Amino acid sequence: MTKTIPLCAQCASHELSEWVNEKSPLIKPEVSKEIREEMRDMEIKEGKCIVCNQDRASAGWFERICKVINKYKLGDSFKKEFHQMFGFEL
Ligand SMILES: [Zn+2]
Repeated sequence: MTKTIPLCAQCASHELSEWVNEKSPLIKPEVSKEIREEMRDMEIKEGKCIVCNQDRASAGWFERICKVINKYKLGDSFKKEFHQMFGFEL
């Protein structure tokens, strides 16, 4: 079970886009679009987003981001780095 940190859909989407841009600028537009689609219907749970501090942290954003990472075959190293970036416990 992955332990995720409270993050809202907007911030999760933004952070991953930025990060993909650094890693693979060529695929960024495609991935960003995909992430926006995934985050659109994200359910909101109680809690503050650690990035923007608004009361709209979402559940399940990490799974959705993993889905995008898998879809574009960005690889496990992407997932691992993303984990580390936010200080997840693996
Ligand atoms: Zn946020």
